[in-house]
Formats: sequence, structure tokens, C-alpha cells
Amino acid sequence: MSGFDRFIMVDWSAASAPTPAKPSADAIWLGLSEPSAATSAEYYRTRSAAETRLIALCDQALATKTRLLLGFDFAFGYPEGFAKAVAGSDDPLALWDWFAAQVEDGSDNRNNRFALAERINSVFAGVGPFWARPRGLDLPGLPEKGSARHGHGLAERRHAEKQVPQAHSVWKLYTTGAVGSQVIMGLPMLARLRQRFGDAVAVWPFQPWDTAPIILTEIFPSLLADEVRKKAAAEGETIKDRAQVLLLAETLCRASQEGSLGDLLEAVPSGAPRQEEGWILGAGAEALLRAAARPDLAPPQLKNDCFAMPQGVEWTPVDVALAHLKSALGPVKRVETLPTPDCAGRVLAHDVFAARANPPGANSAVDGFGFAAAHLGPSGRQVLPLLTGRAAAGAPYRNTVAPGKALRILTGALLPAGVDTVVLEEDVAADDHAVAFEAPIKPGANTRKAGEDIAVGQQALSVGRVLKPADLALASALGVPELAVRERLRVGILSTGDELAAPGSTEDPAKTYDANRPMLLAIAERWGYVSVDLGHVRDDRAALQARLDDAAIKTDAILTSGGASAGDEDHVSALLKESGALQTWRIALKPGRPLALALWNGVPVFGLPGNPVAAFVCTLIFARPALAMIAGGHWCDPQGYLLPAAFEKRKKAGRREFLRARVTRDGAAEVFASEGSGRISGLSWADGLVELPDDAAHISPGDPVRYLPFGSFGL
Ligand code: AMP
Ligand code: MG
Repeated sequence: MSGFDRFIMVDWSAASAPTPAKPSADAIWLGLSEPSAATSAEYYRTRSAAETRLIALCDQALATKTRLLLGFDFAFGYPEGFAKAVAGSDDPLALWDWFAAQVEDGSDNRNNRFALAERINSVFAGVGPFWARPRGLDLPGLPEKGSARHGHGLAERRHAEKQVPQAHSVWKLYTTGAVGSQVIMGLPMLARLRQRFGDAVAVWPFQPWDTAPIILTEIFPSLLADEVRKKAAAEGETIKDRAQVLLLAETLCRASQEGSLGDLLEAVPSGAPRQEEGWILGAGAEALLRAAARPDLAPPQLKNDCFAMPQGVEWTPVDVALAHLKSALGPVKRVETLPTPDCAGRVLAHDVFAARANPPGANSAVDGFGFAAAHLGPSGRQVLPLLTGRAAAGAPYRNTVAPGKALRILTGALLPAGVDTVVLEEDVAADDHAVAFEAPIKPGANTRKAGEDIAVGQQALSVGRVLKPADLALASALGVPELAVRERLRVGILSTGDELAAPGSTEDPAKTYDANRPMLLAIAERWGYVSVDLGHVRDDRAALQARLDDAAIKTDAILTSGGASAGDEDHVSALLKESGALQTWRIALKPGRPLALALWNGVPVFGLPGNPVAAFVCTLIFARPALAMIAGGHWCDPQGYLLPAAFEKRKKAGRREFLRARVTRDGAAEVFASEGSGRISGLSWADGLVELPDDAAHISPGDPVRYLPFGSFGL
């Protein structure tokens, strides 16, 4: 068991108050990375919230049997001799437990670290080793200046900090660059993780790292300072803490995949320091770490053969073609982090977990009166004296409601201490002094339990989801102010053919007005992509080539229409064929002709038929799920409904057919009078498609047929 499935890097904080609600620097940040998913960052305002989250992540790892490497950016030990003097043992883990017992840390981040440091200093001869504190604190045994220390007998730096000169000493507790406070405020949390998870947790390098499912390691993100700077600049990242934890998580994940993580974990000098002081993961193996960190600025690429179809097949059934696309395509866009309100329509790049429960506390579901159910009589009329004051949403009642008393309570108000049940105001008679109602009342009636919707740490949304407005509500309610999403896919739309002209630009009956481009641009926009108008090119090989070269820079996928068959004037397929990358898929589909699929300079090109009806159907059936995959989402099959047919039709075996259709007033599926594929009016008339199977069929009125509303295609 030497591999890991998930890497979580933690930037800890010794802050004495909650950090700002808006994700900020100098606060707690988690960077999460795993091979199969995008990297994501999480922000926590308090140590207690972060600890709750870490526990949930460990629980989740154990439940799913995934192996976790957790990294923390503070020292796991002190210079030799400290542990023995303070906790009575050389064992650094005994020192952790000692700190866990001595450190007081409130859920609002208030803590006793400076007073505790002064107390520790008093154990040693002379003055020190801890130093630096806020001016106002009256702690004579904790000097303000490092130079005031003497005679305590401990080394200034651990061996690891000699290896990494830019690392700070654990003794300095305050002002720029100080890490000492983080150690004091971090070790108790680690001690509690160990106590809670027992043998499932091992601490590197004090314990073997290759057996336990959860490994704790000390990290120092500045080992990758240059790489962090480069990455932050490239991505417009403003919060260094976030950039650091993300890059380190990603780096260790890559090291693990490339097989160098074991070497990083083994790069610890043997002997005494390892046993007591701990070590920094990657110290002494900086080159190895940096090699795994190389900022991967290029987005992922599609494979060259992604459109290759099995040869020798005359007509490819629709389902075979779809299955092939499904297996061959994957995301090509990078991940970015955006404020939750800006994420509608974006593809989620990582699972989202609740940072806070919903509801966060037990509260009232109605306007009414709250009391403790246990003190009611068994039945009949109940009269409870009313307390003065009330509990309202956002304005809780701070006192305890005594047994036998009641309190006015409004919808959404936290249940005060002493209240477990609420009677609806419509069911009572009340004056200023008392409230009367009929028992029995079910204990807990009209209340909501804390977390009854979603508990802290529970998964709320999963990777690949296209975020709906309601998803933004959910993420916001759960305290997730930012989401990792894929950059928007840019979809280029190009019309080809000498016969095309701009609508209204000519009276020449030999010319066809370009109908596909506005339709396809609007479709791509509806699907949440950035539509890029690539214009119209004539049937000219060189012009087409130049246009595609340009398009491949500006877009992530290209939809062309026209010229996709194998005839003399089919320049799109001819050019793609010349470039060597063409796959012509002869799909057993009506309406539709061959679909030309190719990579042009690495960008997928979907060569659609020119006929607007066929172009439309091919776009819905093939381009839609393919683009969803490329955008980082899930494969999407349209949701269909069985409706009675309002038509009669016979079809032969061999091709799947899509008919322009809509639903009659009686809920039956009627189809457009003409199946002629030149009838654009039928597309506009329709609200959906009827899908007829590949096999032969004779549909009579009333027979069930599969109706796919355009809404099922996201239109
Ligand atoms: P093609 O696939 O190029 O053989 O074209 C099939 C039919 O679709 C021809 O009648 C074309 O004129 C027509 N067509 C091609 N492109 C468009 C377009 N952008 N708008 C409307 N009709 C088109
Ligand atoms: Mg043509």
C-alpha cells in the first residue's frame, strides 16, 4: 500500500479571530488534488471549522477506502531536547498530546498561545526560547525581542530548517514570517486527529508511511516559491496561500502518479533529528519536487485518434457512434475558481462539500410558540405562561426557556435552550401573558433539526455538473462562496459553400441564404458556451485552410456546415482528408449524411451536413454530448417521453429516424407534414423530435413513440 488517492495540503493559521468572510490571504486554505479530478481549494475562517472539515475528509477517505496524504505547513516537532523538557518524553507525539491538553482554542479562534508560551519558557533556564508577542500583552517571561533570550540551551533551528534556509525558526511567535504560533495552534488539531482515527493515521517521518490509510506530513510551500509565482501570474491568482496549497497538492499528486513520491518521502536524513524534530517533505529532494511541480500551463489535449472508427463498417449505427464519442472525448479546458454567483451554466470541476450544515442550527418551521414537550400534560387544554421577549430569524433568544414556560418564536428562529417543540400560532389562543392550546402535540413538531437537509462535510454537488440556478442557492446556503469550474468552452461556427450568401443580400435564385450559422451560434450560446462566429468561406481549399488555422487558435471546438460529404464540391471533407486527420462517419441516421470528424491543430472539428434540418439534428444528437464532454461535463442523453403517436408511418430497417414533432392538445405526438429535409419551416414548427428505432416499424395512431422535447437538448 504505497500509493495515495488524494492529496490535501493545508495552510494553517494562528489567527486570534475569524478571518474575513470573503476568502482572503493569511487564513486557512486547503488544496485538494486527486488523479481523476481537477484540483480545488477551500477556505476556512476558523480552525474549528477547518478541523471539522478535515475530520469529514478523513471519515470519507476511510469509508471509501481511499488513501489520503495530508500536508500541513507547520513544524511537527521542535529542536532536540524541547519535548523532554516540556512533556517529559523525547517522543514528539507525546508532545502533541501535551499541547492538545494545554492549548485553549475557541470556535471563534480566541486562544491562549502567548500565555502558554510564557509558561513553557519558564521551564527552561535563562530566558526563552519562545519570543515575540503583541505590544499590549503583559507577559514578562515572553520577550519582545529575540536578542533578549539567553541560556535556554536549545538550538535556534531544527535540522530541517538548516536544510531549508528560508524556513523560519519555531521560536518566533509574532510578526512577519513567524511560524511559531501556527505550530502551537496546529499540533493540538493533529493530536486530535490521531486520537480520533487511531491506527488509521500515521505521522511522517516519525512512523512508517506505507501502511496507514491516512498519512500526516509537514510541508513547506515556499519550496516551490518560483513555481507558485509563475502559476499565479499565468492564472491571474491573487491569493498566494491558495496558489500554494493548490500547486503543492497537484505536485504531490503528479509525483505519486509518476512514481517519485516514494523517493520524496524517503528523503529524510536518518538519526536523531528524524526521531524527534520531524522533517519537511521535499527538503533535501528539492529537484525531485520541482520536477513534479513544473507548472502545467497547457490545458489537456484530445488524443489524435479520438475520432477513429472501426474500419470496414458500412453504416455505423447511431448508438455505436455515440458510444465511441463518449469513450474518446475528455475535458480540454482549464479549471478556474469563481465566486459562486458567477457560476451559472458553468461545468463544476470538483465535488462540492458542505462547509456548514443546512440548516446550521435547529430552528422553527412556523410562526408560533416554543416550549419543551416533556412538560406538557398528556391531553386536553394546556396553558403555558409566556416569557417576555421572542426568538426571531437572525435574532435568537439568548436565555433558557424554563420547563412549563413558552416563548413566542418565528419561522427560521434558532430554537432557544429549553425548546424542542413549536405549536402553530393558528392553533393557539394567546394574550401577553399566556398561551393556550390542545394537547397532544408531537414532540419536535414544527421544528427543523440542525443538518436535516445536509450535514457538514456531506457532498452536495458532484464534478461535471452544469450548474443550475438552484445549485448556486445550495452552494451558497452551505457556505461555499467560490467554486472550481471549467473555463467556458469556445465553439466556433463556420458556414461553407460557394452558393451561400448573407440573408437578403442578393435576389439571385442560385444563391442560398446562410441559415445554419445563426442557428448554430444560438445553440452553442444556449448550451453555455462562448459562440465564436467564424463567418462563411467559399469552396476554396486555401481559404478554408487559413480560416481553420485561425479558428483553431480562437476556439476549442469547431462546427462547420456544408461540404462534408465525399463529392467534388465537398471541400471540408477533402481538406480534412488531406490533412490526414479525417474520419468520415457514415451514420445510419435520417436526416443526416456522413458526419466528418477531425482534429485540426488539436481542435475537434464537427463537419455537419449543409442541409439545415440535417445540420440541426446532427448537432443535437452528436455535437451536444460531445461538446459536453470536451467542456468537462458528463455525457448527456436527452430525456425522452413515451407519447401516443398522432400519425401513421412505416419505416424500413437500417436507419434511425428523427421526425420534427410537437405535442398536441391531447398529449399526443404529431409530426410535421413533410419529411423533406429542405423544409426549414418544419424545424421552426416543431417543439421536439420523435425518435424512431433503427429497426423496421409500422406506427399507427395511438402507438407509443419516443418524444424528445427540445428542452431535453437544452434548447
Ligand atoms: P452540402 O452538405 O454542402 O452538400 O449542402 C447540402 C445542402 O445544404 C445544399 O443545398 C446547400 O446549399 C445547403 N446549405 C449548405 N450550407 C447551408 C447554410 N449555411 N444555410 C442554408 N443552407 C445550406
Ligand atoms: Mg456544398
